[in-house]
Amino acid sequence: MDEANCKIACQLISQTYIKQGSQALTRRHKLIKTLLSQLRLPTDGWDDATIELFIQDASLMDSNNFIDNIGLGEREARVASELVARRHYRLAHGIGRSGEVAAEQPKAAGSSLLARLTNHLAADALEIAGMKDLGPVLTLPLATGMALTVTLLALRQDRPEAKYVLWPRIDQKTCIKCITAAGFTPIVIPMKLEGDQVVTDIDAVNAALAKIENKNTLACILTTTSCFAPRAPDNIIEIARICALLDIPHVINNAYGVQSANLCALVTSAVRKHRVDAIIQSTDKNFMVPVGGAIIAAPKNRPLLVEKVNKLYPGRASMAPLLDLLITLLHLGAAGWSRELQQREELQPLVLDALKECAAAIGERVLVTSNNPISMGMTLDSLESKNKIDCFDTRYSARAGATFLGSMLFARGASGARVITPEKQQTVAGIQFQGYGASYDNYPHSYVTVAAAIGSTKTDIEEFLKRLHACVDEFKRKQTKKTSHGDS
Ligand SMILES: *Cc1c(COP(=O)(O)O)cnc(C)c1O
Repeated sequence: MDEANCKIACQLISQTYIKQGSQALTRRHKLIKTLLSQLRLPTDGWDDATIELFIQDASLMDSNNFIDNIGLGEREARVASELVARRHYRLAHGIGRSGEVAAEQPKAAGSSLLARLTNHLAADALEIAGMKDLGPVLTLPLATGMALTVTLLALRQDRPEAKYVLWPRIDQKTCIKCITAAGFTPIVIPMKLEGDQVVTDIDAVNAALAKIENKNTLACILTTTSCFAPRAPDNIIEIARICALLDIPHVINNAYGVQSANLCALVTSAVRKHRVDAIIQSTDKNFMVPVGGAIIAAPKNRPLLVEKVNKLYPGRASMAPLLDLLITLLHLGAAGWSRELQQREELQPLVLDALKECAAAIGERVLVTSNNPISMGMTLDSLESKNKIDCFDTRYSARAGATFLGSMLFARGASGARVITPEKQQTVAGIQFQGYGASYDNYPHSYVTVAAAIGSTKTDIEEFLKRLHACVDEFKRKQTKKTSHGDS
């Protein structure tokens, strides 16, 4: 109800009461006004009623929700199911037009507004997390892998000779598939071992570059920050330096790196000192929304690639992942977002300590991977069955010892742990990898990784490690039994 209507309502209800009610409405409208004028996260998160009021208002500004609207075109945001309409707050036009995915839609002022706002708030959230000196930010309804693919495709426009992407190895299938999906051939740069850590081999990067006579055949170097231990974040500063020197684009896969102050600082350094063209991050892994979105950001001093992705995107796109992010950011506010980040930072040493305790109890040790601020690993060397085949359970008979632990954990409702054994071979995108999972051919240990991820709690860790411990004990009991059987 606006002020004029409140005045009229005074014929029905005492003016004093209407005035109070009207003031309550004004407070909410002021929150919206501040948001629209500042284009930053509200200091404190909004209550759900204000968020719904705002989205509802925007939605009523879209033509499909006009009273008496008749649309005879083929894209009039018709929605058959009322359930679906409600699930989307009746926002049905999506985002973008055929020309640009971030363009305004004449039929959908509300949707266009919310989409623009999402990008502003996403930029603010990245800045609060510690990613400084960023320019344009584009939220797309594509998960990280596809967002990387469209970014690589956008690079091709300026580099028509490009065939290859130089890629320090990271054992996550999406990371290599995003290259081949864009029609490029990955040049895999093996990592090197430094203590327990698997780190970028800058000499190998330089050696590979030296072999490429025409640098224009390279689309970019694709580096990765957030990754499973024992891999460390890539040395993105040194690679950014090489990219600046040789005039090669540099794209950073920062999938879940936003949640780590260290990784954000690393990205900021690379951006400030040398060359970065785009940084891509997942919405679900960083902002606790359903899977479906990614944020593509470009540095302030090199903003063009984001604009190119925006123009390259064919057609309209779903607005749902943007709406999820918008609602979440309004719900958290700057204070809530900072608190989530802070809690994650505090969680990391707790996970490490708990993992150390667990390791000591089962006669293993924690891998020293101090450059990785999110993922941690513990050796499982004592679990490797000597004869590799035929564990105690025939359902898993083809699996080696430590891998079986992964299944045991999963069966006990403990997900997220990855058990890696050095002998695993895997072909991804036509390339065969040895020791898949460790990002290294012959990693000297079997191990399990866990993550100190945003949104996890201390209780989660304690309960998880309790189950892990129980699984290891059970495993060893069975192993001993089996061995003694075999001996007899
Ligand atoms: C999760 C992840 C991906 C894949 O992300 P999707 O959102 O599933 O496309 C790619 N790279 C890294 C490093 C990841 O952690």
